[in-house]
Amino acid sequence: MVIGLGPMGAGALRAAAATGVRAVGVGSPEPASFATHAGPFASHYDSGRVTRHVDATWEWAEFARQAIAAYPTIEERSGITFHRPVGVVYATNVRDEIAAVESVVTRLGALGIAVEQHAAFHDPRVAIDPAAVCFVEGAPAGHVDPRRMTAAQLACAQLDGGRVVRGVAVAIERVSGGWRVYLHGGDTVDAERVIVAGGPHTAELAGLPPVPPLDVRAEVVVMAVVDAAEQARLAGLPSVIAPVDDPQFLDVYLVPPTDYPDGSVRIKLGATRHAPVAMPDAAARRAWMRGDAHTADLAALRRLTEALLPGLRAERWETKPCLITDTPTGLPYVEHIADDLVIAAGCNGYAAKSGDAIGALASRLALG
Ligand SMILES: Cc1cc2nc3c(=O)[nH]c(=O)nc-3n(C[C@H](O)[C@H](O)[C@H](O)COP(=O)(O)OP(=O)(O)OC[C@H]3O[C@@H](n4cnc5c(N)ncnc54)[C@H](O)[C@@H]3O)c2cc1C
Repeated sequence: MVIGLGPMGAGALRAAAATGVRAVGVGSPEPASFATHAGPFASHYDSGRVTRHVDATWEWAEFARQAIAAYPTIEERSGITFHRPVGVVYATNVRDEIAAVESVVTRLGALGIAVEQHAAFHDPRVAIDPAAVCFVEGAPAGHVDPRRMTAAQLACAQLDGGRVVRGVAVAIERVSGGWRVYLHGGDTVDAERVIVAGGPHTAELAGLPPVPPLDVRAEVVVMAVVDAAEQARLAGLPSVIAPVDDPQFLDVYLVPPTDYPDGSVRIKLGATRHAPVAMPDAAARRAWMRGDAHTADLAALRRLTEALLPGLRAERWETKPCLITDTPTGLPYVEHIADDLVIAAGCNGYAAKSGDAIGALASRLALG
């Protein structure tokens, strides 16, 4: 059984179902209204997440390699497209980071994955700090729609006999032969083995044995809605990760114009804070996601977007709140916390693109 059906949990369910075991996943659906929602939220309620092999950390590159390799199969089997291979520019002006990325790029090259290194990125539509080194990766890097991707992963799981239950797990208890999971509303599910992949809410499940440290922080993204003319001007723009010289923010990540479920086309930009805003408990996380404190970042994030894309014309701007789960290692935890009980959590802000591979690892671990 898998609890939580985001990119990791859906990946775990897909992998488990593919082995032929009886697999069930319980996942909270995306709330129609954040303001009135009482249950868990998620880190993937959006239409754009950067996908790339290029990274400063080999493990993330390897997770990406495994996950990206599976995108075509997941899209084809499910009939749901989610991958937009427009390429990525990863720019950094941090000496240690440049060296780390170079080392990863060399290893990727040995596996046939090409990343070019340039002293600058020459596209007049994008303004990156001239002191930054630019690592440029073409397709299949680009971006994914994480909502559509999880739907596709779950569709694959169901094709292999996996069951998807829309609901919230509130507690877990050891019983003879495995674990009993209590759902909101009173139902229970017994399972021999359980994977908990609840994103920022993983540690909130009552009865869970102690979990390794998962530090949840608040994140804000700004979205610029662009019209047809601006979409045409920006056509072919890659995803961009770039440093910024800003008192509040360290770097930015940009997803180029992307379709959203309301029919709009949006550019999305997020930024890493110098000082993370901790969300230490369930109450703080829910209050953050339900509230409008995120709007306070609108002016600053709009300024960063306009600096990165000079001359950008947007029809309207808005911010959205999100949650990111960090671990002390900077890598996800995929491990047993008790017999037959595995957690897969700790996205560190990088796991949408690789959730399928991380979930598959959790599934292999749980199934022994
Ligand atoms: C603003 C922002 C930008 C990001 N940008 C990128 C990017 O560009 N590239 C990238 O690769 N990654 C990015 N990430 C990170 C990425 O979104 C996360 O790594 C990914 O969503 C993590 O997947 P997950 O399955 O661990 O958790 P989640 O996406 O949080 O999914 C967990 C799911 O479990 C459900 N759940 C929790 N508890 C329960 C319960 N008790 N019962 C039932 N269901 C439960 C939740 O409702 C949720 O649906 C970004 C994250 C944020 C917030």
